[in-house]
Amino acid sequence: MRINIAIDGPSAAGKSTIAKRCAKLLGYSHLDTGAMYRCVAYKAKQLGIALDDEDKVVEMIDQMTISFDSNGNVFVDGNDVSLAIRTNEMSMGASDVSKLQAVRQRLVKMQQDISKGKGYILDGRDIGTVVLTDAELKIFLVASSEARADRRIKEYIEKGIEFNREEVIADIERRDYQDSHRAHSPLKKADDAIEVDSSNLTIDEVVNVIKAKLIELGVNYD
Ligand code: C5P
Repeated sequence: MRINIAIDGPSAAGKSTIAKRCAKLLGYSHLDTGAMYRCVAYKAKQLGIALDDEDKVVEMIDQMTISFDSNGNVFVDGNDVSLAIRTNEMSMGASDVSKLQAVRQRLVKMQQDISKGKGYILDGRDIGTVVLTDAELKIFLVASSEARADRRIKEYIEKGIEFNREEVIADIERRDYQDSHRAHSPLKKADDAIEVDSSNLTIDEVVNVIKAKLIELGVNYD
C-alpha cells in the first residue's frame, strides 16, 4: 500500500532531513515546499519587487518556473538556486511572501498538482492542514529553539554559508512568530497529526518513530 505523508513544523526542526530519509526508505518522492516560498522571495528580490506587493509578486509567479531535480536541487527559470535560497535573508523573505494569500493559493495549487496520487512526502507548514489534508500519516515535528539553532548552524557550516549565531537564533524566533501568527494558513498542528519532539532525538530515532507508524498503517518498507 502506498500512502502520502505530511511533515509540518517550525523552521529548522529537521523536516526536510526526515522527509528525505523517509522518501529513500519508501521509494517515495519528496517535495520541499519551503524551498518554493524561498524561490519566490529570491526572484522578487532579484527583480526589485517589494515582498509585500501581492499583485506584483503574483504576476511574477505566473511568469516563473520552479523545478526540482531528483537530487533535491532547486531551479528558478532553469537556474540552480539551491544554495542561494538558503541564506538568512531568503528565510525571512520566504516567510514574508508566504503571508500573502494569493501567493499561498498559487503555491498550494502547484504542490497539489505535483503530488497527485500516492507515494509523496511533503514538508512545510500547512501540509497536514491545507495541502494534503487526506494524507494517511501526518507528523508535526518540533524541537527547542536551541536545538534548532544548532542544526541550522551545522547546515550553514556544511554548505559554507556565512552566519552570525545571534542572527540565526533571532531569525528562527522571528520566523516562528510570523509563521504561527499570520492570517492565512498559520503554522499549526493538524488535529490528526502525531507530534514528535526531536530536541533530544537523533535522525535515526525520529525515523524509527515513523517506521513504527508505518507498520501500524500496514505500509511495507525495506
Ligand atoms: O521550510 P523553510 O524554512 O524552507 O520555509 C521557509 C518559509 O516558507 C517558512 O518560514 C514559512 O514562512 C514558509 N512556508 C510556508 N508554508 C509551507 C512551507 C514554507 O508558509 N508549506
